Amino acid sequence: MSKQPCIFCQIIHNEVNAIIVYQDDRVTAFRDIHPVSPTHILITPNKHIESLNMLAAGDEVLIQNLFSVARELALQEKIVGSGFRLVLNTGPDGGQSVAHLHLHLIGGRRMHWPPG
Ligand code: 5GP
Ligand code: ZN
Repeated sequence: MSKQPCIFCQIIHNEVNAIIVYQDDRVTAFRDIHPVSPTHILITPNKHIESLNMLAAGDEVLIQNLFSVARELALQEKIVGSGFRLVLNTGPDGGQSVAHLHLHLIGGRRMHWPPG
């Protein structure tokens, strides 16, 4: 089986630079390299899980962890009052481009609906 290096795993393990804004033994959060808003943070499980479709039994707690960290970071970024958006793209039609589960925390400007 070929082992493709995963860019988010490399960031999590400090092998590739990123602006890491939060890290614990389960979750890492870092600023998106191409931000779409003043706050654009990616929140990922440290464990490599390709997408929401690939969650294994027991991984559900990680999803809880991602949302807890998102809320904490929204407070830190001072966007709780104005509001923010959490996005979890899954698969090709969902717009997922990196195959390591991640939650986008986007805020600091007015969002539109429906998304593109
Ligand atoms: P997706 O499209 O999979 O939901 O989101 C992937 C996100 O990862 C994109 O917003 C993209 O800008 C970001 N991204 C891709 N490569 C890198 C990288 O090397 N460093 C950082 N910080 N963000 C990245
Ligand atoms: Zn990975």
